[in-house]
Amino acid sequence: MKQLLLFLCCLIVSSNGLFAQNKITLVIDAGHGGNDPGHLSNNENHLPEKALNLIISKLVGQYIDQYLTNVEVVYTRKDDSYVSLDDRVEKANSSNATYFMSIHCNANEKQHVHGTESHIHDFSSTKAVAFAEELEHQFSKRAGRHSRGVKDNGDREHTLQVLKFTKMTGVLIECGFLTNEKEANYLNTSEGQEVIASAIYRAFRTFIQEEHPKIKFLKETLPTKGNKNTEIASKNKKDTKSSKGEYTIQLMSSQDPLETSINQFQGLGMEVLRVNLNTKNAYKYLYTAGTFITKEEANLVLEKVKKKGFKDAIVIKK
Ligand SMILES: [Zn+2]
Repeated sequence: MKQLLLFLCCLIVSSNGLFAQNKITLVIDAGHGGNDPGHLSNNENHLPEKALNLIISKLVGQYIDQYLTNVEVVYTRKDDSYVSLDDRVEKANSSNATYFMSIHCNANEKQHVHGTESHIHDFSSTKAVAFAEELEHQFSKRAGRHSRGVKDNGDREHTLQVLKFTKMTGVLIECGFLTNEKEANYLNTSEGQEVIASAIYRAFRTFIQEEHPKIKFLKETLPTKGNKNTEIASKNKKDTKSSKGEYTIQLMSSQDPLETSINQFQGLGMEVLRVNLNTKNAYKYLYTAGTFITKEEANLVLEKVKKKGFKDAIVIKK
């Protein structure tokens, strides 16, 4: 009997372990809030740091909900309320999260100082280093920001409570300097906020995909309305505009018509449309996939499409 019980216990533990591996939890911590405004810009029309942190945090969470599966997002605050550092740590630790990101904006006495920073507790955590490096890579290469790099305790000469006392892999992100006029202007535009948030999202996505290769994270893009293998003559092209989005991804073009059911297209998991350009040029057929309301959304899927072999794919207006 004892042996049987032991066996059952082992079974439960191992199946729990398996189950846990299939889902990860991310804590998103929007810095400051309530009566703690964080840093302020010199421009009185600008939002205080606490508000920018919340906007960017919610965008990151929204992108994760929209494009990733098997990731649960927990927020330390979802509105303009004050949450103490102890409570942030407590909330993160009690959520059994795998990852933690704290989102902030920076300030410096010298107004020319600008750029992004990703802070970790110390360089001994290889996972935190990898995540932080990917963040800075995305900020610099994809979002076009000036990256000031990854910094730890030693670099900043003080510890950050939310990094020191949280048990999971964590990074504190400084999205830019509110004391730099140009950067403050940028962070106060919805475009700037979206670009920064999508860079954070992309870094997180890349990092977790590498860290958990056995978990399926990407949500398949739902096929758009309409029939498969629909050929749209260019004179009817305007009609397709009536579908929800304005943007689509141009995959490739060809001289002779290809079936949209070929394996190369099927591998995308998206509906592919063939458009007859009715042109005298050699390349008469265009292949598009997806319908997106914003260019930013289309760009997020474009990355996935390129990885699947469509290296020359671009986002176009429908
Ligand atoms: Zn801050």
